[in-house]
Formats: sequence, C-alpha cells, structure tokens
Amino acid sequence: MMLSSLCGIHPTESILEYTAKIPATTQSNKRAAKGRSTLPRPKTAPHPEKVCRICGTPVSPRRNHCVDCEATAIRERMVEVAKIGRMTAHAAGPRARLSETRRRHASAISAWQPSNLPAWLNEDTYTKKIQPLLKDIANPVIMSALGVSVTYAVAIRRGRRRPHPRHWQALAQLVGLSPR
Ligand SMILES: [Zn+2]
Repeated sequence: MMLSSLCGIHPTESILEYTAKIPATTQSNKRAAKGRSTLPRPKTAPHPEKVCRICGTPVSPRRNHCVDCEATAIRERMVEVAKIGRMTAHAAGPRARLSETRRRHASAISAWQPSNLPAWLNEDTYTKKIQPLLKDIANPVIMSALGVSVTYAVAIRRGRRRPHPRHWQALAQLVGLSPR
C-alpha cells in the first residue's frame, strides 16, 4: 500500500515534502519519548528518617521508640489496656473519649484562679526548683497525677512544655518540694 494513499497526500508530493509537513512538536515529542526509555531507572528513594513516636529522637528503622521512651511506651500500653477494660462499661468511641478529656481539661482551666497557688509557688519556682527534678519522676506517675498523656509527660519532664499553673502544686509534691 502506498503511503500517499494512507495519509491523503497528493501523489505528486515527494516523501521529503511530506516529512517537512510533520509539525516540529510531534517530532520532538517522539524524541523525548524515545529518550525517556533509555534513561537509567531512578534509584528508589531512601527511607524517610524514622523517629521515636514519643519524643521525636531519630531511631533505627525497625523501632518505634528510642531507648529512653521504650519502657514508657510499654507501661503506656499497659495503662491503655486497663483503660479499655474500664471503658467497655460506657462503650464510648475514641472520639467521644478524646472530647471528654478535652472538656475535662477545659473546665479545669476555666475554674482555676491564680490565687489557687500559694505565694511561694510561682513561675520562677517551677522553672528553677521543680522542672529540673522532674526527670527523676517516671512518666506514668506524672500522667496519673495530672491526668495527661505520655507525650505531655515527656515534654514537661524535658522542659519542652511548661504545664498550666494548676498542675504546679501536684508536681511540687511529686518532687518533694514544699514551702520553706
Ligand atoms: Zn523517645
């Protein structure tokens, strides 16, 4: 079969003229497609750095927690298992439990007055006397004393978060600090 009959080109046109009529973009697209297939396969992307789920310290790819937080994570799981046992009674979903926690914290904050704190227990005392001693208090102890999550307990032990003043008295007791 003749090319001219396929493409509707007038029989007097030469094949050179026909080629010249192909739009430049079509030709360059063909070149690009051909070039792509000869490129080396892209290397697989490196694994994103894995970090501890609690404190964010980089950990080896097989671990979920750093050495510091592993024991805490195990205790946390035990606490969670115990909680689930208690919660089957009121069969609330995780979302309902979370909003209940938020509501409880929000009402505790709105009920709290600065005058609830003894005069000696101020920000300076918290930062200089209490916070440095918290590293010796286990996360679960802080969690149950304040009703906070392990993430928050870790953050305040490391001084990354300064807890709401309503928590200072409980923390002062945990580290054995009392008024002089
Ligand atoms: Zn950690």
